[in-house]
Amino acid sequence: MDEKLFLEEIKEIDLLNQSLGLLEWDAQTGMPDASSSFRGETVGYINKLAFEKSTGPVIQEAVAYFTEHPDELSQTGAEVFKEVKEDYERNHSIAPERMQAYHAEVSNAHAAWLKAREEKDFSVMKDTIGRLIDFLNEFIPHWQKDEKTPYDVLLNQYEPELTVERLDQLFSELKTGILSIRKAIAEKGMAPRTDFLSRHVSKEQQKRFVVEVAKQLGYDFAKGRLDDTVHPFMLDLNRNDARITTCWDEMNFTMAVFGVIHEAGHGIYEQNIDPKYDYTPLSTGASMGIHESQSLFNEIIIGSNKSFWEKQFPLFQKCTDGLFDDIDFEMFYKGLKETKASLIRIEADSLTYPLHIIIRYEIEKMIFNEGLSLDELPTIWADKYEEYLGIRPENDLEGILQDVHWSGGSFGYFPSYAMGYMYAAQLNHALRKEVAVDEVLLSEDYSPIYHWMTEKIHRFGASKKPNELILAATGEELKSTYLVEYMKSVYFDVYRISEQSQS
Ligand code: ZN
Repeated sequence: MDEKLFLEEIKEIDLLNQSLGLLEWDAQTGMPDASSSFRGETVGYINKLAFEKSTGPVIQEAVAYFTEHPDELSQTGAEVFKEVKEDYERNHSIAPERMQAYHAEVSNAHAAWLKAREEKDFSVMKDTIGRLIDFLNEFIPHWQKDEKTPYDVLLNQYEPELTVERLDQLFSELKTGILSIRKAIAEKGMAPRTDFLSRHVSKEQQKRFVVEVAKQLGYDFAKGRLDDTVHPFMLDLNRNDARITTCWDEMNFTMAVFGVIHEAGHGIYEQNIDPKYDYTPLSTGASMGIHESQSLFNEIIIGSNKSFWEKQFPLFQKCTDGLFDDIDFEMFYKGLKETKASLIRIEADSLTYPLHIIIRYEIEKMIFNEGLSLDELPTIWADKYEEYLGIRPENDLEGILQDVHWSGGSFGYFPSYAMGYMYAAQLNHALRKEVAVDEVLLSEDYSPIYHWMTEKIHRFGASKKPNELILAATGEELKSTYLVEYMKSVYFDVYRISEQSQS
């Protein structure tokens, strides 16, 4: 076995995965509905080839050989090997029949979720969700290394090294911070005007604006493209092909405007990974949370920045053909940052959003670490919404049936969204020590910001763990205070609350 042979095999797996990516993108954007069964077979076949290769004789031999002879690998080779070995061991720990049975249950669960949504009744999908949870409880001991609790194991699948102990602390601080900001707003805030947000803005007008903004933020359209879809996503085939998608709503332009800015953040990350990781599993983001830090940095940190909108508002007015000429910049900006409790996570504003995540985290933890009965789920869900957000869903569709994640078996995934948001705020704090962010955002050239991000985050791909990246980029471990302070500065300004009257 030599490194060249090992990396050639890894490259072939990557080529298969790139093909799968393109098929997936096509299925979500342009594929005729009638083609889906043909497509299913194609995807199934290529998937099988990729899986067989990734657990096949060459990889088996490489894992055995380089575990014994690590010094025969180059530095990049060793980084790739570490990732491949982890993946191999994970894939190997569970009998293929059990994994297959689990995937079949996921398909059932998805169908049951759609039906439950139609009937607005969680009990329709309760049994299949129960079976998915049983599968995960069966797999957890196989995946477990030194994690303390079953739910820690699930968290680690999406955010390496994240623990319940740490999340409990971060989320409790974050919750306290957000609730106190919400209290201040309720007591003395002056709500911004928002009626103009529902003016009719055509898809073409929105697109003209947001494509220009995405370019300025650093998204390279020569290495990407923007297409229409139902559920927006970014999909990368390689660093020269990171595609973004969006869904346009002509009566609510903020959806696509912030949606494209968000997905462009994911795309910029992929487009700037070091070429030395090409054709390897390291040519992607470090974790779900770190990926989300890049999209949320764009969407929320830059998207809530006053200097950014001071510069972009005239362009927005121009692109929308004078439709907003009667609105001044200050009014426009404040309208964008309204905060209001809502039942639906994906419609939540940037202050209340983490509360939606914390609720899901607390429930998932109860399911896996305390054996919570599924019969109680809808009521616990509703109680928590009432407690944290002051509103109660009237039916399961507005409550526990809103997200696709649990029916996909993705327990442990939700916290990544809030982790990404905290990472983004801390990165912003560190960035501001080196780059005059507000001045840059007022200028024609945003490159100092995305070059800093490439230097600190993008280029490493998946070669470093989240904690390591954040520590190196910001000089300290993740803290919740940066996000709380950041939210305070934005929302106290928008709701005209002075800091003094607070303390
Ligand atoms: Zn995202």
